[in-house]
Amino acid sequence: MSENSIRLTISADGHINEPGDLWSRNLPAAMVDAGPRVEVRDGKIAMVVEGRVLRRLAIAPPEMKEGDLANLGDWGENDASSRLAALATDGVTGEVLYPTVTFFTAYSIKNAELQRAVCEIYNDWLRETFADPHFAPVAVLPSTDPAACVKELSRLAPKGVCAAMLPAHSDDLPFNRDEWECLWEAAAGLGISLSFHVGSGRHQAPIRGAGGAVANYVITCSGAIETASVLCASGILERHPKLRVVLVECGSGWLAWALNAMDEAYREHQAYVQPKLEELPSFYFRRQGSVTFQHDPVGIGNRHYTGDDCLMWGSDYPHPEGTFPHSQEILKADFAGVAQDSIDAMTWRNAARLYGLATPEGFSCTP
Ligand code: MN
Repeated sequence: MSENSIRLTISADGHINEPGDLWSRNLPAAMVDAGPRVEVRDGKIAMVVEGRVLRRLAIAPPEMKEGDLANLGDWGENDASSRLAALATDGVTGEVLYPTVTFFTAYSIKNAELQRAVCEIYNDWLRETFADPHFAPVAVLPSTDPAACVKELSRLAPKGVCAAMLPAHSDDLPFNRDEWECLWEAAAGLGISLSFHVGSGRHQAPIRGAGGAVANYVITCSGAIETASVLCASGILERHPKLRVVLVECGSGWLAWALNAMDEAYREHQAYVQPKLEELPSFYFRRQGSVTFQHDPVGIGNRHYTGDDCLMWGSDYPHPEGTFPHSQEILKADFAGVAQDSIDAMTWRNAARLYGLATPEGFSCTP
């Protein structure tokens, strides 16, 4: 082959849309009213949980009445075979699956028992619906209770689940607190990677008015810097060398800067640094961390500093900030001049290895 090419790809970031009645069908009767719902509120389709409107999505069609349950299922393809067909039109052969309604509602639930039930229902529906070697379903963990997270991982591991997500931020119980230690240990021991997807666990739109849409997007992505720094500098990754962590949809251009800044702080602020680590903080991210990006020539350009192994492309299908249905054109432009081995690492091999996914036809992948 005379020039480098993208060929086929695996997307490390996609979102399914849960059936609107998933929880009303499956929650115990006493919990149904408080469970996640997509329904008409004040003339708009809204995501609601525990009676609170968390997100208004669109104006409801005129035939729908106040309180009617709505379905997001017509956004993107939400069963394995039709989804694979849709992805194929974009040159994508496999995908790591994150939620939508669960994403926006589960981490806002204050009742721990309800949160556990909501996560279990979603996790079972997801792995049963996408039981196909081209998909890696990412389980949602009940973030209010680390012990419940461990229990859910232990329930799911024998069923073949190899990835789970936490909110990107946990301000009520920060990730460097001892209470989380049981989860890091369990995830490492069970071989389940932990994802932190941007846009979860914290209010995402602090800037109001002029410039807000752009500033809030950048602020949301930059939250990954905080999460990565805590995971590296707190000793979590050092203590659990088999733990794999993934920062999702945050882009990758910031990573080179952040790795250098962590090391600089570690060296220059020695008097304040605790715990002391065997290696510089960036070592642990390169060994155990990954980030996903959609359209980020800056991150690809920085690969000589970060290494290829922690970069994974994802289309974020079917979201508007993602690259579907133009992924191949965007990848060709962003990867121009990059060596084929590096392209393969970032566009399918790293994800195939981490998630045990079927590789694009004709390629081999040795873990
Ligand atoms: Mn995403």
